[in-house]
Amino acid sequence: SSSDLWTRSDIYHKSFLHKHDDALEHVLKTSDENGLPHIAVSEVQGKLLNLITKSIGAKRILEVGTLGGYSTVWFGRALPEGGRIITAELEEKHAKVARANFEYAGLGDRIEVRIGPAAETLKQLPVEEPFDLVFIDADKPSNPIYYKEARRLTRKGGVIIVDNTVRNGRVADPEEKGAAEEGVRELLKVIREDSGAEATTLGIVGEKGYDGFTYIYVL
Ligand code: SAM
Repeated sequence: SSSDLWTRSDIYHKSFLHKHDDALEHVLKTSDENGLPHIAVSEVQGKLLNLITKSIGAKRILEVGTLGGYSTVWFGRALPEGGRIITAELEEKHAKVARANFEYAGLGDRIEVRIGPAAETLKQLPVEEPFDLVFIDADKPSNPIYYKEARRLTRKGGVIIVDNTVRNGRVADPEEKGAAEEGVRELLKVIREDSGAEATTLGIVGEKGYDGFTYIYVL
């Protein structure tokens, strides 16, 4: 099937380009053991987030949607000395699994999990402590509000990345009226009206199927 084809492709490329990281494996294992849904970024996407973090020299990262902390550990592995991550998660159970994973990865002192609706968490963050990179990966209908808060909290020259903005092409299909698709469409309208940012959406195919990131550069 097509999914086998793209899983094989990811495995092939990873065999040349990725190293084993026990802590990342541990996140997937504990997430599974605790019954968390299998909706983390793929390994390839995680490494891309890690490389972007290094490329822009990000020291302060804000994440919206922690789950078991898989993407968070990829970010954490890219942090320089003194770097810091705040990650927002609604579910107490997810946050608990994630915190244990950050300890296991040796990142417990650099990553702070804030439990509660992310819109509230973000509103409480002060503009005086801006972020270099924001990764938005939670409930998709809230994308416009997360984007608005991320723009307030991201420094000039910083980057905002929104996950799952392609959704197997469904976002561009007007027949699709799902809340997630509508949330992405609303986000695209907000970005179009935002003269302080430039963006593109990169479709990604791999072991998690067809989806993509919207990558936003803050002017
Ligand atoms: N970024 C994670 C990764 O790649 O490893 C995956 C995050 S998962 C796709 C989305 C997470 O957002 C879930 O853990 C879910 O509980 C959380 N979430 C959903 N609604 C939320 C809200 N209103 N505020 C904060 N987190 C929320």
